[in-house]
Amino acid sequence: MSRFFSTKYKDLEAYVPGEQPRDRKYIKLNTNESPYPPAPLVSQRVEEESHLLHLYSDPECRTLTEAVAARYGLEYENILMTNGSDEVLNFAFMAFCDASHPAAFPDITYGFYPVFARLNSVPFREIPLKEDWSVDLEAFRPEETVFLANPNAPTGRYLPPEQIEALLASHRDRVVVVDEAYIDFGGESCLGLLAEYDNLLITRTFSKSRSLAGARLGFCMGNRALIRDLNTIKYSTNPYNVNRMTMAAGLAALEEDSYYMENCCRIVRTREKTATRLKELGFCLTESQTNFLFASFPGLRGEEYYGKLRKRGVLVRHFGLPRIREFVRVTVGTPEQMERFLSATEEILRETKGTLL
Ligand code: PMP
Repeated sequence: MSRFFSTKYKDLEAYVPGEQPRDRKYIKLNTNESPYPPAPLVSQRVEEESHLLHLYSDPECRTLTEAVAARYGLEYENILMTNGSDEVLNFAFMAFCDASHPAAFPDITYGFYPVFARLNSVPFREIPLKEDWSVDLEAFRPEETVFLANPNAPTGRYLPPEQIEALLASHRDRVVVVDEAYIDFGGESCLGLLAEYDNLLITRTFSKSRSLAGARLGFCMGNRALIRDLNTIKYSTNPYNVNRMTMAAGLAALEEDSYYMENCCRIVRTREKTATRLKELGFCLTESQTNFLFASFPGLRGEEYYGKLRKRGVLVRHFGLPRIREFVRVTVGTPEQMERFLSATEEILRETKGTLL
């Protein structure tokens, strides 16, 4: 830290993103990216748009916002496009939390929530997940702004909209942010609750199901007044938050919707096959509605398993947090990638047999 760094950030612990190895030797199953490339139309439109890079992007993101609104049966005024969904999550902490309106989220969830809270000096409470990794919805207090990843990460577990509706109804005076980064992999969205609940904000990303992690595109859907507030924050930080090429990519991705929805079905099929194989090998798994699996093997240390996979060229994610340190999170790749992951796993199990705890 330099002697110039603001004292308000001196204790800030930054978010640590998953590794992005530069040598490209790994089967990369560590950051929940799609294993399938963008549709060809996306690359074509990005190339065309690149000739206009001397001009700023449209700060209203009009065309893309209208396309997203049409896709989800909403109005332009219900949507805000952002630089990844991380950006809109940060905006939500800025816009809807303060000292008298703390944030609350599960103790095991997306690791960026506590970072955003600290960055914005927002007090927060972490609600322990129940033993079965389900969210303890009754534990949220009415004065708290709630952040819920649904499905949750890294557990993969999912809450149906009826359960979230009960929370919305008992939280009428605070915003409930439902982070649906993984909703295209099986769960039912809370979209149908938007008309009735002006306190619901849904965040989404193009990073997972739409193969655009590298373009940084996210958005949120909510009541017009909430979107206006978030726009105030956006125009006070970065009006051109979505660049031209990303806008073009997002628009083309929506035009090719069926390509992406088919990829989601493929990923779900691969997930279920991989889960079955892991269970046959003796792994414990949570039931996942996402593009990743959360797995542990009795007696095999999570960190050791992660390290042994890495040595064999398979990169997964391990979190050194108390309740989940014996688990690894494995992104669902192509069937071929998962075969390689499973055969590396079988080799590790053979090798460690007899030395397990
Ligand atoms: N929410 C959750 C639950 C996530 O796992 C992620 C991805 N790490 C994000 C939001 C952010 O995704 P992005 O900024 O790429 O849209």
